[in-house]
Amino acid sequence: MYCLGIESTAHTFGISIVERYSRKVFSNVRDMFRSESGGLIPVELSEHHVAVWESVLHSAIERAGISLSDISLIAYSRSPGLGHALRIGSIVARCLSLRLGVPLVGVNHCIAHLEVGRVHSGFADPVLLYASGANTQIIALEEGLYRVFGETIDLGVGNFLDSVARFLGLGFPGGPALERLAAEYSGPLLPLPYSVKGMDVSFSGMQTAVRSLLSSHSPQAIAFSVQEHAFALLVEVSERALAHTGKQSLVLGGGVACNQRLSSMCQRMCSVRGVSCFIPDKEFLVDNGAMIALLGIRHAEKNLFIPVSQAGIDPYERTDEVSSLHQ
Ligand code: AMP
Ligand code: MG
Repeated sequence: MYCLGIESTAHTFGISIVERYSRKVFSNVRDMFRSESGGLIPVELSEHHVAVWESVLHSAIERAGISLSDISLIAYSRSPGLGHALRIGSIVARCLSLRLGVPLVGVNHCIAHLEVGRVHSGFADPVLLYASGANTQIIALEEGLYRVFGETIDLGVGNFLDSVARFLGLGFPGGPALERLAAEYSGPLLPLPYSVKGMDVSFSGMQTAVRSLLSSHSPQAIAFSVQEHAFALLVEVSERALAHTGKQSLVLGGGVACNQRLSSMCQRMCSVRGVSCFIPDKEFLVDNGAMIALLGIRHAEKNLFIPVSQAGIDPYERTDEVSSLHQ
């Protein structure tokens, strides 16, 4: 009994095969749109997903060592994301559901990041620091709803890092390139705006300030200072969410959590507070089909199937509009 999970909210088209009872991930294949210019153009993304979906599907089936007829559930990312990208995943999901005669579930991408962290850490009820390209949220369950305890009020942290990388003439994705540059620097921290507003964070002030540093400082100094400021914001609000909720564990999600500096800052904060910290393997931090399948399996356990005729997309669904699956 296998679930096939399809991720298609933004730059990545991914398909994973997960066994429904053991939650074991048998394959997790992804193909990410890349561009030299550093931009993400929705029409180009959708063309990429249309071009790769079939080969991603075949690799996922082949690597799992199963055949299509072994699939008993299709899960797809229904929300939130770029409409152009979401639509390709939902069409592939609907076609497979019809072709194989198996039920369909549509899941929220942000909650899927929480679910993969929860399953792989074994923590019953963690706080999630979700730091990705478009999204930056601190999410936890409270009274039957996934609450957003803090979030960016402008850019996602990954998009912010990508824009800094673009200023420095680096391609997309920019986060890994900035991490490499930052590691080469050992000078003083450059001052940048540090914007925490209540539990929310903001990156646009820092983005404007970085432009004015470009001509007078090295890319290494800029990369280092940007990382230190941006990650300190995230760690500060994560710590406050832990303090407010009294929860005993933090999990990380999103591509920015691949960053060693961010993960070591989170681990240090958690160890000082005496709470547990779990950072999933990279393949489960970035956008991937396995987290969609894992959350889809929970939807199926609650009979939250959707008919093919209603299996659309919801680009703007917010995390706190989704009811808890834990009841
Ligand atoms: P996601 O949207 O979750 O797939 O993550 C993509 C984002 O993660 C992009 O903005 C990348 O620049 C960023 N990212 C990936 N690896 C790293 C890294 N090592 N350090 C910082 N950001 C990263
Ligand atoms: Mg994501």
